[in-house]
Amino acid sequence: ATAATPATARTVRAPRGPERTAKSWGAEAAKRMLMNNLDPEVAEHPEDLVVYGGTGRAARSWEAFDAIVRTLDELEPDETLLVQSGKPVGVFRTHEWAPRVLIANSNLVGDWATWPEFRRLEQLGLTMYGQMTAGSWIYIGTQGILQGTYETFAAVARSLGRDDLSGTLTLTGGAGGMGGAQPLAVTLNGGAVLIVDVDESRLARRVEHGYLDEYTTDLEAAVARVVAAKAAGEALSVGVVGNAAEVFGDLLLRHRAGDLEVDIVTDQTSAHDPLAYLPVGIAFEDWKAEASRDPEGFTARARGSMAKHVAAMVGFQDAGAEVFDYGNSIRAEAQLGGFDRAFAFPGFVPAYIRPQFAEGRGPFRWVALSGDPEDIRKTDEAVKALFPDNAGLVRWLDRAGDAVHFEGLPARICWLGYKERHLAGLKFNEMVASGELSGPIVIGRDHLDAGSVASPYRETEAMADGSDAIADWPLLNALLNTASGAAWVSIHHGGGVGIGRSIHAGQVTVADGTALAAEKLERVLTNDPGTGVMRHVDAGYERAAEVARERGLNVPMLDA
Ligand code: NAD
Repeated sequence: ATAATPATARTVRAPRGPERTAKSWGAEAAKRMLMNNLDPEVAEHPEDLVVYGGTGRAARSWEAFDAIVRTLDELEPDETLLVQSGKPVGVFRTHEWAPRVLIANSNLVGDWATWPEFRRLEQLGLTMYGQMTAGSWIYIGTQGILQGTYETFAAVARSLGRDDLSGTLTLTGGAGGMGGAQPLAVTLNGGAVLIVDVDESRLARRVEHGYLDEYTTDLEAAVARVVAAKAAGEALSVGVVGNAAEVFGDLLLRHRAGDLEVDIVTDQTSAHDPLAYLPVGIAFEDWKAEASRDPEGFTARARGSMAKHVAAMVGFQDAGAEVFDYGNSIRAEAQLGGFDRAFAFPGFVPAYIRPQFAEGRGPFRWVALSGDPEDIRKTDEAVKALFPDNAGLVRWLDRAGDAVHFEGLPARICWLGYKERHLAGLKFNEMVASGELSGPIVIGRDHLDAGSVASPYRETEAMADGSDAIADWPLLNALLNTASGAAWVSIHHGGGVGIGRSIHAGQVTVADGTALAAEKLERVLTNDPGTGVMRHVDAGYERAAEVARERGLNVPMLDA
């Protein structure tokens, strides 16, 4: 395309198989993963380059997408491409150990880090919102969050003094790219769940991809289905089309009247971006037009609705339910909308996840560039054989093998910790080298990880030493991964919880079966989770200090 004929949307699907057109597997892997992020099976709104999480984009424009793909194909194995908020801006001579791509997305100077200023710059074509794994090309569809969501609901069951969720009813909102993992995560834990979304097409997509059992537009019918499932101790997920701000309030009245008993309440609508949350009183069809006509007015109305939505959640908590924020910043937005008790319930990280972060555990994920699901099946078996004593991990891999429908390139996620992840990476590399797998494996993670994020409403909420907003840690993580041999490294602002509220980093490595790949994998997959242990040692978590001592992490002032 030339400047006169702008490149337009088209259907993108990553190439499969062991032959590459790029000059290194690092560049080929980055190209395939960018394309995979935009595969219609993977992306929520591929025509707009939107992958997930409100407006999380993979590239700034279709012209930029074409230029990235072309540059990656031409890139020498000792060169590095720089990407500034979804646009390729330079190629530099580096060396073979250096990343093939370095990415910075959505970063703004502190005082300018607001949604209105971000949108002004976005409209000028100067930036894009990269979310976490959208702009860093390692989104793998809804599965990417599934194990984390499954583990979170398992922890909720434990905090309710139960072995699993059978006989309980969960209420939640938001069946989008990430939120859509919630119904399957609850049913895998044995529970019944009702999920509310304003967009019928999202509920239909979750049913089609096997993440949701059924949905209806009739609230009465939905309530009857989940009440019966709870009473029978059956696992069942039901979606209902509606606005969560209204439906949660309505269900609270029924809960108080004794017509139904809700045990667990959370939410994953796109509350981090007030323009991606539909306020009560605006019709679904008018959403985009209203948001662009009057962003400030729309924001105020969205916050007003979030205040109602969160007030209902606090009402459920007052009535005895287990209630938590699921990482979308809805408490902060509801507070801005005028609801004073928005922070009455905790975020999910301090409530359930932090002990895992203290061990460097987090969402390790891998993708088969061959496109062959059999490669993932073989890697599942290999991971089970590496960690046979980890019963939860083995159970997860068995269930995921049965229940997860692949979206785009076949992929797997499982949570592994410090001095575990590199064992899996080295094993995969051996399997590629021996020909047991039919193509290289890409290994990455979410930015939602132990050492790679500063996000005071989510990953670093209520840190033991009060260091919630210190953002040196994700920057050190990115620098270390760059120095350790990652294939691409990214630094983002605003993912998960929105502009002004987070800074985070990503890394991806590639197992192409070579000896050099093994050396890089060993370092990156040891050092990257190591920064999580380091960060939690520094914040004063005793478990992190034990892990550092037991597993040999050098933290200079640990026992000083
Ligand atoms: P998404 O944009 O793909 O989906 C959001 C969904 O919310 C859409 O289907 C939309 O129709 C629905 N929605 C908007 N307003 C609504 C309303 N008033 N009532 C009912 N439904 C409404 O986003 P996603 O990728 O699913 O992410 C959802 C949120 O979760 C984001 O804020 C994201 O940043 C956050 N997130 C959390 C985690 C985590 O680990 N907890 C991980 C990733 C993302």
